Amino acid sequence: MPHAVVRTTLSSGLASGMFVFLGLLAAIPYLAVGGAAVPGLAFAVVAAAAAAALALGPRLFRLERRWPWRFLAGACIVFLLGALIRPWAASQVGPEQLLSDAFIIPGYVLSFVGLAGFLRTREGERRHALLDGLLVGVGAAVAAVLLFSKPAVEVADRSAAVSGLAAIYPLFDVVLLLLVLNLAFSTSFRGLSYLMLMASTALLLVGDIGYALIGRSGDLTGNRMYDLPFLFSSVLIGAAALHPTMREVGGRVRLPVQAWSSWRLALIGPALAVPFALTAALDVNSALDRIVLASGGAVIVVLLLARAVSAVQGYAAAQRRFQYQASHDYLTGLPNRALLTDHVSRMLEQPAVANRPLWLYFLDLDGFKLINDSWGHEAGDHVIVEVSRRLRRLLPADAVLSRVGGDEFVIARVCTEAEAAVLADAVLATLREPLSAPAGGVVVAASVGVARTCVTLGDLSAEDLLRNADTAMYQAKGDGRGRWVMFDPTMLDRARERIGIESALRQALSNRQLRLVYQPIMTLGDSRVAGAEALIRWDHPQRGAVPPAVFIPVAEETGLIAEVGQWVLREALCQLAQWRADGVVSDLFWISINVSPRQLRNPRLAEDVAAALAEYGLPGCAVMLEITESVMVDANDATDEVLAKLRALGIRLVVDDFGTGFSALGYLRRHPVTGVKVDRSFVGGLGASAEDEEIVRAVAAMSFALRLSVVAEGVESPAQRDVLRTLGVTYGQGWLWSRPIAPETFAARYAARGSGRGRQFVGPVDLRVEPGSDDVGTEQFESTMNRARQTEAVVARADVQRRNAAVGAHRLP
Ligand code: C2E
Ligand code: MG
Ligand code: MG
Repeated sequence: MPHAVVRTTLSSGLASGMFVFLGLLAAIPYLAVGGAAVPGLAFAVVAAAAAAALALGPRLFRLERRWPWRFLAGACIVFLLGALIRPWAASQVGPEQLLSDAFIIPGYVLSFVGLAGFLRTREGERRHALLDGLLVGVGAAVAAVLLFSKPAVEVADRSAAVSGLAAIYPLFDVVLLLLVLNLAFSTSFRGLSYLMLMASTALLLVGDIGYALIGRSGDLTGNRMYDLPFLFSSVLIGAAALHPTMREVGGRVRLPVQAWSSWRLALIGPALAVPFALTAALDVNSALDRIVLASGGAVIVVLLLARAVSAVQGYAAAQRRFQYQASHDYLTGLPNRALLTDHVSRMLEQPAVANRPLWLYFLDLDGFKLINDSWGHEAGDHVIVEVSRRLRRLLPADAVLSRVGGDEFVIARVCTEAEAAVLADAVLATLREPLSAPAGGVVVAASVGVARTCVTLGDLSAEDLLRNADTAMYQAKGDGRGRWVMFDPTMLDRARERIGIESALRQALSNRQLRLVYQPIMTLGDSRVAGAEALIRWDHPQRGAVPPAVFIPVAEETGLIAEVGQWVLREALCQLAQWRADGVVSDLFWISINVSPRQLRNPRLAEDVAAALAEYGLPGCAVMLEITESVMVDANDATDEVLAKLRALGIRLVVDDFGTGFSALGYLRRHPVTGVKVDRSFVGGLGASAEDEEIVRAVAAMSFALRLSVVAEGVESPAQRDVLRTLGVTYGQGWLWSRPIAPETFAARYAARGSGRGRQFVGPVDLRVEPGSDDVGTEQFESTMNRARQTEAVVARADVQRRNAAVGAHRLP
């Protein structure tokens, strides 16, 4: 049979069903045909088939632990042999009489081992399942001894060995019952295979009880009706081994909650009643009866007590575990926010010691999201655990460390101001050491906000302190990350202002308070309009004009930028389509739109832009997107894909405010950008500062080498324009030509100028040529790259100098 057919027959449970059907079919000749041969053969075939199924099933279902099933298969075979021999053995006198038992007893042992094998895969506290099983087992044992074993022993006219064996069988069944109950109590998966296994064992017990009943009067063989339960038992156990749910029977499972459910009580209740019921029902006259009943009853009481004590202990342990989980972080085991607040509240209640206030440090890892996105959550977890370890190692014993959020930690400590500053520096230093794998080599930095109790701040609660430290941490992020900042109350005003802006901006979107203005981008050579940058404006009814530099960062932080950005995109494209339709601009004119880093993290950005282009009937080359350097620095696979898709639409990508960030040549080469916009801080110094001139020249040279277009921003004077021209910069933008203006003004001013509509417009000069393409030889490419590298060094050095100047440090030589 082809493999696929076998697989579907097995996985659908069809094989198991067929086994049951054929087994039932075999029962017909077993019951209907007279004589011993045919029924014996039918029985033998079923039992042998069951043994084969038990041996094969685990292999067919590719089980790892096959041995419990194999023991059951072995049990099947020896039971069969015992059953076949039994009629002959019963008619013998002497030791031959015991031959069938010589098979059946090992059969029981094999079954015990097999069933116990299933129990070994249960994970968790098995005590309760065992105690519950034992309770029923002891009840059953008392009943078995008094009802079956004792009468069997008392049968006259047979050897002591035969009587003894007859008395032992009911006790084997008690062990079997114990194992089955344990299996039942310790799983909540009750698939068909499991149910068939249970039913098969139950039938074994029924058959044994039948024999035990006739055994009371000395009969050992019975008739084929007595063996019928064994036949069906074989059918079911074979079918159990062929059903796909058999994987669960011996599979690893967690123990279910060991509560006394109603069905468990239905089993345990009667078992508890056994000693009482038998005392009432039997004519208890012998010492043995009394001993069995009394000791059975005593064992049951002890087991019940053990079960009760264990349940209470388990409950208490669960409660302790729950309390721990509710107050600790699962990953690091550190106190969570709730427990930290408790600790801090208690520290605040201590009498204040002069010069030793309570300090709270709020740490947030910088760029943690990037680690999660690039290396996966496992690496992220690794970083968190490593950070918590380092901090624990660093902190003195009296400090409290807590994890209050994904990548946020809080330290609380009572110490002097000098000690507090030393600790803040040490925290930053310990985090800066590179991490080991899986985020190997990565350096995490943190921004830390520090808050303290202070007489001038009045009584502060734990929550107040946390909020202050959190606010200072935001300030540290805003100031450039990787640093610690001390809280001061004016920060709260700024934070409130941010929140005010956020809610006002939400309304601005729906109340049409936003609009776009356009600033022309000119060719420096002949001062013609090449394109225009769309710049957002917000006219707030009470606040007046809110500058984009104020609200764009808030929109970034809160995620509102997604909506704002989408609005800007559609508004700008709609305007461009209108101007093109009205003949205000030529087809070569482009619109430049600012996109912020968070927008580029939206994997659907390119699709959104494509949809807007299609809606307004515009080609991709009519659009330029301005991205920041940080986008390239923080880029990951997802943002790279977005940039590539945008380029594939024909959209040009320029790096805005170039020179203010990282200015690394590698970034420009690695990402599909088509141009740079030289930041206006460099343009401002042209004509006056030789250094700025050197930088702009370097950027122009580097861009030329990399075939990038260059726009100079913030051109205010003809002198600046003239220098830019001599440096070879292609485009300029600034107040020299025009401030950003409303679209109507733009249309009126530019469409009206010149003798023909749109005559003053030129298109983009796209300079980008991929490295290694035909028009640049490898040698030439290398030499221009070298020039570009030198340029990069100039720009980077200038950048450091500017930064140092800004913080009042000495200038580098
Ligand atoms: P940016 O993209 O670098 O825009 C250029 C800024 O320089 C504009 O400021 C513009 O008005 C100003 N500017 C232009 N020429 C001159 C000049 O000759 N001298 C001086 N001193 N300034 C000049 P604005 O409009 O205030 O925008 C500030 C920043 O806000 C923009 O910088 C941009 O980063 C952001 N922004 C503006 N609109 C949007 C937008 O729609 N989306 C996003 N994400 N950001 C925007
Ligand atoms: Mg811009
Ligand atoms: Mg700019």
